[in-house]
Amino acid sequence: MSNNDQNHWGTATRGVRVGAERTPEGEHSFPIYATSSFVFESAAQAAARFGGDEPGNIYSRFTNPTVRAFGERLAAMEGGETCVATASGMSAILSTCLALLNQGEHIVAAHTLFGSTIGLFNNHLARFGVTTSYVSPTDLDAWREAITPATRMLFVETPSNPLTEIVDLAALAEIARDNGCLLVVDNCFCTPALQRPIEFGADIVVHSATKFIDGQGRCLGGAVIGDAETVGEKVFGILRSGGASMSPFNAWVFLKALETLEVRMRAHTAAAQTLAEWLEAQPAVERVYYPGLASHPQHELAARQQDGFGGLLSFDVRGGRDAAWRLIDSTRMLSITANLGDTRTTIVHPATTTHSRISAEERARAGIGDGLVRISAGLENVEDIIADLEPGLAA
Ligand SMILES: *Cc1c(COP(=O)(O)O)cnc(C)c1O
Repeated sequence: MSNNDQNHWGTATRGVRVGAERTPEGEHSFPIYATSSFVFESAAQAAARFGGDEPGNIYSRFTNPTVRAFGERLAAMEGGETCVATASGMSAILSTCLALLNQGEHIVAAHTLFGSTIGLFNNHLARFGVTTSYVSPTDLDAWREAITPATRMLFVETPSNPLTEIVDLAALAEIARDNGCLLVVDNCFCTPALQRPIEFGADIVVHSATKFIDGQGRCLGGAVIGDAETVGEKVFGILRSGGASMSPFNAWVFLKALETLEVRMRAHTAAAQTLAEWLEAQPAVERVYYPGLASHPQHELAARQQDGFGGLLSFDVRGGRDAAWRLIDSTRMLSITANLGDTRTTIVHPATTTHSRISAEERARAGIGDGLVRISAGLENVEDIIADLEPGLAA
């Protein structure tokens, strides 16, 4: 199998076949290299490895064959040159910022970002003189206006969580290019099975592998994908010194999970679409947020930019917080958890959990009402998910 073959492969084939070269043992499933360090044939070889004159393993904080196999596979799926695997999604974002931003520089970010990302920017990067401005993700003029001469990075998630707003990645990439900024996309919700931001001009993709990539709620992990210099040298350099490396065991779980990623994402999407259409027909539901619905304001953009509409949806129930809590508490099968991207369908009330730390005004501005409920559609029979929600909406 040559690299030339790989270039013609689709995303699902890459997820199954790229990376994980067979060892002389002839194993069909790639092994876990559970070793912290590697031995050298001679003092001279050790010196050459340390000096960078000879490629090869030294220590698993730097490189490990199982971690490398996962990274090669994910990079191929995203269409990026290289991937650095990290201990968690947050360490992927931290490593990217530490590697690519200097004191006094500035980030423009969507105000809809994952809460811990906002916390990292505001509470930690700010202490080192890196500041962040927030804009509405879909307002391209707001992105342009927020850019200053110090801006180095635009940071976005699309679809957004929990309202599934879609950002035009090609348009945002153009704004980044025109202003000499890097566009970083957190592709956690779609995964490369449904969306490959680098094809639209993004410079860097970051992942929480903890969510749909694992897809079964087992391991924490993350990844940074991009070109050989930006990611392969700079982000890798931070990881090598900073130590937020992925463990070989977790890499093995994710490597195997990538083999089923595309079929799982298609199944999550099919379930979410059925749920969204059913919810839209319920009198107790005021509004449904799902890019696969014709009523979604960026339905056509999502259809153009994504290969599927994804597993996440939200809806407003009539009656505010009490009605939302009643619905959540009436379910017997769904998991009440803020986590997402699992085989098991999860349900959560954003206003009092994931978004409880922002003020009521900020929540209102972001469109996160008291009646809003978010679901991450799992892989159960969708009839059983509907049957679990039905009594709470009828009440
Ligand atoms: C969960 C999540 C993260 C953080 O990932 P961890 O693996 O929990 O560190 C980052 N971005 C998004 C969009 C997430 O949902």
